[in-house]
Amino acid sequence: MNRTRLLPYESAAIVFNDEMIADGMSKELDHQIALADAKSLYTTPVMRNDRGVNTGGLGWDPEVFLSVDWKARQRVRQSEMRSLWLIKQEIGINRTRRNNARIMNILNDKCPNCEQHSEDSKHLNLCPDAGRSKLHREGATKLRRWMTKTNRKTEPTMARVLHDFIRLRNSTSMEELAQQGSPELIEAAKMQDRIGWVELMQGKLAVQLVRIQERYSASNNNGLDGKSWSTNIITQLLEMSHSQWLYRNFSLHHHTLGYLHRLEEKNLRKTARELAPLRPEAIPATSQYLLEIDIEAEEQTFTSVSYWVLGTSDESSIKRKNLSK
Ligand SMILES: [Zn+2]
Repeated sequence: MNRTRLLPYESAAIVFNDEMIADGMSKELDHQIALADAKSLYTTPVMRNDRGVNTGGLGWDPEVFLSVDWKARQRVRQSEMRSLWLIKQEIGINRTRRNNARIMNILNDKCPNCEQHSEDSKHLNLCPDAGRSKLHREGATKLRRWMTKTNRKTEPTMARVLHDFIRLRNSTSMEELAQQGSPELIEAAKMQDRIGWVELMQGKLAVQLVRIQERYSASNNNGLDGKSWSTNIITQLLEMSHSQWLYRNFSLHHHTLGYLHRLEEKNLRKTARELAPLRPEAIPATSQYLLEIDIEAEEQTFTSVSYWVLGTSDESSIKRKNLSK
């Protein structure tokens, strides 16, 4: 409270966690309540029962938790299905092969792409399969192009470090990549390392990185303000992660089709629009993951659209066959 200063026309102020809430009070309070719940889940120690199931929290250091730009994550527009997918991914309860094997009491827990045993949620962006590696590189390149576009300029050293860190898939620390940068960038990189690479791909960006962009934007007319910058970066990271999930599910559920007929992007978009009215009725339970794709989103990635089209084409052909019986 000692940092709060009332303005001349103010008779009272609402303060939460030492921060004065100036406007959008109900929105801010909703955010603070959700944040308190999330903090409790994240910072409670991990407790595994005798079956290896975690019945506790995620075991995060509170300082690390407070260094994530949660507000930016919250600003990212996502469909309900995508949000649900992300939460499951974060707490490790998505239908991975490892979880599936445990629930169904079966032995096969191999990744459908690289065939490594015990596929868990952390494997999502780290799968060494050639196709999935290529997909990851494509996403990283798209992100770099976006960061360096004239009208969306990111602080140049940070753009390079962030791109390299993402592209190298957790094989080096961000701190190491930031050694030629400013002391602020090195400190921010250290914090992002503490948050984690896997977590970055889930949209958990260090606030220290966002502050670097804010300062850059304030002194450079070409720079994108911190708020828009972080929302955009996280949107793209989540698209990259979700594309991996779609690729993985596509491989698992559509063995007969194999991976991806590379059609022209233009044709895919046209087909996607034509098929849109078919969902969700044309999609059976085995392909429910297709519902996680938000086809209305303006920033639809080429890969997401192609998975969707191929999956839906497959299902609609099944539907047509059933109808003709
Ligand atoms: Zn794999």
